[in-house]
Amino acid sequence: MNISRIGIIGAGQMGGGIAHVFAVHGFSVTLYDINVQLAANGNAAIQASLKRLVEKGRLTEEAADLTLKRLSPTDDLGQLRDAELVIEAAPEQLDLKKRLFAELDQLCGPHTILATNTSSLPVTELAAVTSRAHRVIGMHFMNPVPVMPLVEVIRGLATSDETFDVIVALAQAIGKTAVPVRDYPGFVSNRVLMPMINEAIYTVYEGVAAPEAVDQIMQLGMNHPMGPLKLADFIGLDTCLAIMETLHEGFGDSKYRPCPLLRSYVQAGWLGKKTGRGFYTYS
Ligand code: NAD
Repeated sequence: MNISRIGIIGAGQMGGGIAHVFAVHGFSVTLYDINVQLAANGNAAIQASLKRLVEKGRLTEEAADLTLKRLSPTDDLGQLRDAELVIEAAPEQLDLKKRLFAELDQLCGPHTILATNTSSLPVTELAAVTSRAHRVIGMHFMNPVPVMPLVEVIRGLATSDETFDVIVALAQAIGKTAVPVRDYPGFVSNRVLMPMINEAIYTVYEGVAAPEAVDQIMQLGMNHPMGPLKLADFIGLDTCLAIMETLHEGFGDSKYRPCPLLRSYVQAGWLGKKTGRGFYTYS
């Protein structure tokens, strides 16, 4: 199956990053968000990131211009009708993603593959609201997408071998390494990472140490490139909470209970870097 046109749902940090990488690699990308301003913001963030790459000498100016020409931001979902692959990167809410998958199933041609960048939600359940469960798959990129080499590829119960092979080849075509996993809460990446982040938040909640100290301990003592609380801010605290809730509900095990402090921060709108405040403040 030849894929040249990609549709992306959600022009936030992940959708923008995914759009960036596909456009750099020559794909034509339509970037959808719920209003024109959000779609344009996503496009502007890609433009700024391309500019930084040019300044660092990692991309020519000509390549950056060509990349921008391949990107079409829109608030009209209908513009994704002709895409051969749609990757959904909307917020981590199951009902929202199910509505989007049902709508995309109606909109797109029968051969279009529908992928989700969900961090933890069941791919099989998203596939079940469509008439093409064999063409639904999880394509879990890491943040920041242009930098991180991994794509965790999640096979739903009905995902076909053909869909899986196409997605693995595509990940390779954009310079990523695809690692397959089964559809299970949090897959592998967030089942391992997120309880550590949640536990780090508990140490702050219980007054064991300040955020800076927790991060310093994990960086200097465990050789982590970034402390867990800074990482949580970068991921987005709303996304962290949603993942912990999926793990808690999916396994029915109290060891995955989200820390009350994480819940309070999300209730306050302190979502981390994207809102300017989380465990740290950002200008
Ligand atoms: P984000 O908040 O930065 O972006 C989400 C975007 O979706 C926003 O631009 C928002 O306007 C848009 N949106 C809201 N409702 C929508 C709708 N109905 N249709 C289309 N777009 C809509 O979030 P993010 O960090 O980019 O996360 C997006 C997805 O990627 C989530 O499922 C998340 O779990 C997953 N993910 C996140 C990370 C991370 O590190 N942040 C890593 C891997 C996967």
